[in-house]
Amino acid sequence: MSTTHDTWQINVAGEWRNGRGEAYASTYPATGEEVGRLHAASVEDTNEAIERAHQAFSTSDWASRLPHQRAEVLYRVAQMIRDGAEELAQLQRLDNGKPINETRALVASAASTFQFFGAACETLEETITPSRGDYVTMSVHEPMGVVAAITPWNSPIASDAQKLAPALAAGNAVILKPAEVTPLLSLELARICEAAGVPKGMLSVLPGKGSVIGDAITKHPLVKRVSFTGGTNTGKHIARIAADKMMPVSMELGGKSATMVLEDADLDHAIAGVLYGIFSSSGESCIAGSRLFVARRIYEEFVDRLVDGAQRLRVGDPASEDTQMGPLITAKHRESIERYVAMGVDEGGRIRTGGVRPSGAQFDKGWFYTPTIIEGLNNQARIAQEEIFGPVLVAMPFDDEASLIEQANDSVYALAAGVWSRDFKRAWKLGRAVQAGTVWVNTYKQFSIATPFGGWRDSGLGREKGREGIFQYMEQKSMYWGT
Ligand code: NAD
Repeated sequence: MSTTHDTWQINVAGEWRNGRGEAYASTYPATGEEVGRLHAASVEDTNEAIERAHQAFSTSDWASRLPHQRAEVLYRVAQMIRDGAEELAQLQRLDNGKPINETRALVASAASTFQFFGAACETLEETITPSRGDYVTMSVHEPMGVVAAITPWNSPIASDAQKLAPALAAGNAVILKPAEVTPLLSLELARICEAAGVPKGMLSVLPGKGSVIGDAITKHPLVKRVSFTGGTNTGKHIARIAADKMMPVSMELGGKSATMVLEDADLDHAIAGVLYGIFSSSGESCIAGSRLFVARRIYEEFVDRLVDGAQRLRVGDPASEDTQMGPLITAKHRESIERYVAMGVDEGGRIRTGGVRPSGAQFDKGWFYTPTIIEGLNNQARIAQEEIFGPVLVAMPFDDEASLIEQANDSVYALAAGVWSRDFKRAWKLGRAVQAGTVWVNTYKQFSIATPFGGWRDSGLGREKGREGIFQYMEQKSMYWGT
C-alpha cells in the first residue's frame, strides 16, 4: 500500500496512471497536512474509462463466469481487506479524519459487504413458475454492462463497498467516482480488487470534481445505471439527467432524523444512544439523529444530562484510541455549520453547549468543532428542517404521541428515526407511524448487511444491502417456454 505524502495514480479501466485533470492533494482534516497528491481524472479519462469498461464487459468472461467463480473473487477481496485492515483504517483516518475506532469498524463492514455479496451471488436463484397449461415461465437476471457508483466523503470505504460488491457480483463493469476530497481509500480498494482477480477493465476509479466527472459519467450513453450516495440536490440533478436517458438510478441521500425519547425510556441507555446518534462521525452522517423530541415531563432532566454527556465527549486527535469525535471534513464545511448555528440563534434558539471551535493548541490546525445542543426552537426552524451534516442537535419537548408523530414526520427527509421506550407496544406503534427507511428502537446506528437500507421522500430512491441489493445492478428478463 502507498504511504502518506505519496503521489497516487488514478485507475482508468485497469491502467494506473496520472489523471489528465488538475493536480490536487487530499489533506488530513485534523492538521491540514497533505496525505496524498494526485492528478484528478479529466473528462477524456472518464470517456476512455467508460468505453474501455464497455469493451471489457463484452470481451472478458466476468459476466459469464459461474456465480460461484465470481463469488470466489469477492471472498478474496473480503479476505484481503481483513488482512490489511489496520493499514486501511489508518488510511481512511488520514483521508477523512474520522477517529480510528470508527474507521476500523468501517473497514470491517466493507469486508463483510464483499463476503455477503459473494454469498448472495453464489446463491442467486432464478424464479421458475411451474407449468401453466402448455407453457412454463422463468424470470432470469442479466448484468447491465457498465454501471457507475458515485460516493460521498463521509464513509468512503463503506459506501464504496456497498456499491462495488453487488455491482461486481452481478457481473457488471464498474466506474467508481469517489468524492474529490477522499479519493485514497477508493484507489486502494481498486488495487485490492485487481489483486483479488477482478479482470482488467472491469473497474475504474476516477477521482475528480462531481460537476465535471460525475456529470460526464451520468450523461455517458454507455453507462446503464448510476448508484448514487450524496446530497439530495445532487441526487435530483442526476435523476433529471437519468430521466432523459431512461436510466435507472438508486439514490442514498440526505437526512434529518428524529430521535424520540418517551417518558418510560431507560434514560442512561437513551442518553448514550442519543449522544452516539448525533455526535459519532462528528455528525457527518446521513442518519445522524439531529432532531431530538423528548417527553415534556422528563425533558429538562434529560437535556441537562445530555448536555453533561456532550461536554464529556473526548474531541480530538483521530489517531487516539480514546477519541470519540474528530474534526470536520474541511474548513468550508465547518464554516457552513457555523452559519447554521448562528441561524439557529437568530431564530431564537439557545445554545446549551458547544457552538464554538474548541480551544487549545491541538485544535489550531484542524477543522474541529464542539458537540452542540440547541433548544428553544420548534420543528419549523430552519436548523430543525435543513440537513446541517455536523455535530448539532436541536432538542425539543413534546406533549403527546399524536403531536410527536406529526412533528417527526414533518420533514422533507425520511431516512431514519430512533425510538426510546421500555413499553414494547408504544414503541411498536410509534415505529410503525414514523415515516423513515430505517427505525431503531432502543438502539441507534445499528447495522446489518443483510437488512436493506434506504430512504423515503427526499432521502432517496431504492435500497442497498440485503440479498435484494444485487438485483438493482441487473436487468430482469421473463422467458416463456412452450411445450
Ligand atoms: P455531494 O452530493 O456533494 O457529493 C456526493 C458525490 O457526488 C461526490 O462524489 C461528488 O463529487 C459527486 N457529485 C457532485 N456533483 C455531481 C454532479 N453534478 N453529477 C454527478 N456527481 C456529482 O455530497 P457530499 O457533500 O459528498 O456528501 C454529503 C451528503 O451525502 C449528505 O447530504 C449526506 O446525507 C449524504 N449521504 C447519504 C447517505 C445515505 O446512505 N443516504 C450516506 C452518506 C452520505
